[in-house]
Amino acid sequence: MLKKRFVWLCFICLSVVFLAACNNDQEKTKSNGKDKVQVVTTYSIIYDIVKNVGGDLVEIHSLAPIGSNPHEYDPLPLDVQKATDADAIFYNGLNLEAGNSWFNRLLETAGKDGEDAPVFLMSKGVEAKYLTTKGQEGEEDPHAWLDIKNGIKYAENARDGLIKVDPNHAVEYKKNADKYIAELEELHKDAIKEFSKIPRKDRILVTSEGAFKYFCAAYDFDAEYIWEINQENQGTPEQITRIVDIIREKNIKGLFLETSIDPRSMEAVSAETNVPILGKIFTDSLGHPGEDGDTYISMMKWNIQTILKGLSK
Ligand SMILES: [Zn+2]
Repeated sequence: MLKKRFVWLCFICLSVVFLAACNNDQEKTKSNGKDKVQVVTTYSIIYDIVKNVGGDLVEIHSLAPIGSNPHEYDPLPLDVQKATDADAIFYNGLNLEAGNSWFNRLLETAGKDGEDAPVFLMSKGVEAKYLTTKGQEGEEDPHAWLDIKNGIKYAENARDGLIKVDPNHAVEYKKNADKYIAELEELHKDAIKEFSKIPRKDRILVTSEGAFKYFCAAYDFDAEYIWEINQENQGTPEQITRIVDIIREKNIKGLFLETSIDPRSMEAVSAETNVPILGKIFTDSLGHPGEDGDTYISMMKWNIQTILKGLSK
């Protein structure tokens, strides 16, 4: 009886050692000892695109919080830690993360500024558009994702980056990307179809930040704005006077407010001109989880429907 119990005990001990060894082997497949690919993204829209391509194989830490403006950000100690440990970092580029050089400084601190660092540009392959404000003409406009065709490029770049750092799961990343890109292609076609319901003369989008260059080129709109790019979150008196004149001159029927912007400037413009704010649209951030616009696809759907409803009256 005692002997039997001893044999059992040995068997259990050996099993524990064997299982621990297996587990250890699995953990060693990633440089940082974690079994998912550790990813850092600079803001919520890129987070969602990488999540769609990476699925359960990735664990993502996103930097600029939902609802905030990613043009400027002060990384927290946790962000530095996550960037240091990351297997891959994805960023927009086109000057988005350039405010205060916050992103470059983060890469430096995290030791990810070398040429071979696993840092991937989501807007690779996008044809850049440029600012038009005097003195800033040479600067790229970052808001490429508002044209869904560019969103497709982002998904391809997410796929290629993940395959580079985790080639063992290339098949899964390709499969996820194909499915996601098919949905984006469908959405792009829907956008063109829906916007064709708005008469061309009414297709003028007035927002706080001039974030819609790529969008307007893709869906045949004109854009007006209070300020061209988010460096500050409030318009100057000159900028307000300028847009008020344009609204009166072009007989504009409605204004739009971005979710990641201080509303006061647009509210002042609305009060001054008696032109209503027709709705909120998403530009630089997704909505909070569980709310409208909480994915790239749902934020674009929300924008299409809000603009359609506002301007086809
Ligand atoms: Zn912006």
